[in-house]
Amino acid sequence: MTTHAYWMVLCKTPDCRSAIVLRYVGPYEGDPPAFFLPEIEPDPFEQMCTRCDKSHKYTQGDLGVWSSPYTLELGETPQI
Ligand SMILES: [Zn+2]
Repeated sequence: MTTHAYWMVLCKTPDCRSAIVLRYVGPYEGDPPAFFLPEIEPDPFEQMCTRCDKSHKYTQGDLGVWSSPYTLELGETPQI
């Protein structure tokens, strides 16, 4: 089964902590892929959370890889 990998950050609002999809990395099957840091500029960057409507500053270090069998829209806040 093909899985889709995304770069995401976790919302910094304490009561929210939603995963925010920032960038689609690509599909992969089987082995965990080796990903390079995405070109998200500037660093830090500001990202709005569509679930709590607050925006926070994030750095490249806040980024994580998240995979899903589903196709997600950028900016989406899926349940994890
Ligand atoms: Zn939020």
